[in-house]
Amino acid sequence: MAKAVAEIGVFGGSGFYSFLEKVEEISVETPFGKPSDSVTVGEVAGRKVAFLPRHGRNHQYPPHAINYRANLYAMKELGVQRIFGPCAAGSLQTQVKPGDFVVCDQLVDRTTGRKDTFYDGPETTHISFAEPYCPYLRKIVIETAQELAISVHERGTVVVIQGPRFSTKAESKWFSSRGWEVINMTGYPEATLARELEICYVNISLITDYDVGLEGHPEIKPVTHEEVIRVFNENNEKLRKLLFQAIPKVSGERTCICATALEGARF
Ligand SMILES: [Zn+2]
Repeated sequence: MAKAVAEIGVFGGSGFYSFLEKVEEISVETPFGKPSDSVTVGEVAGRKVAFLPRHGRNHQYPPHAINYRANLYAMKELGVQRIFGPCAAGSLQTQVKPGDFVVCDQLVDRTTGRKDTFYDGPETTHISFAEPYCPYLRKIVIETAQELAISVHERGTVVVIQGPRFSTKAESKWFSSRGWEVINMTGYPEATLARELEICYVNISLITDYDVGLEGHPEIKPVTHEEVIRVFNENNEKLRKLLFQAIPKVSGERTCICATALEGARF
């Protein structure tokens, strides 16, 4: 592999299409096709950071049409070892409120048909995914959110649906009844592809609104579309602050499960 261009990666989600100023724009080709956009590389406190809006800068790729493999592989090619994966998300529980951040520790995959592995053989590879997110990055994000007085949930399960349609009320109520907290359309396969490349990955779910199954719940006030947009924009502003404060804390050496994910994964 060529000399690392960046060590930390950030995937921008909905409403988050640019991150750093004074950036170098790099067009990356991968064996899996083109990533969603060119990657911009800049610095945060002397650390080289690669940014890629996962939907493309004009939001031209809906969740089910994103080339996740190319996006992850592009980060790998640039030398990235750790990725922050923020995403807009809905809440499945009344105590997880719009404007809250959830640093998920588990996910449930309800997507279908997405290319979710780099290893189609002949070398059979089964990575462990019992803990889908990097424990080290999770800790940094939680601590930083608390320092910034962001209302943060230290754990949570995200159910990732295929989209692009939203859930029915029955589906949403079913997810809530399982005790799962967050719903989203992009969290899978991003997390597993990162693990397959031995890249640390952390999810930061930015809660925009309550999912449809909670509609009419006595603890929840109906909100206007304008309020949803306001929360969405405020979340992205809080996220910027969080990333600028979290990235300098990331240390060079990796001792987490992610760094050696392929050891013992092949037969
Ligand atoms: Zn890790």
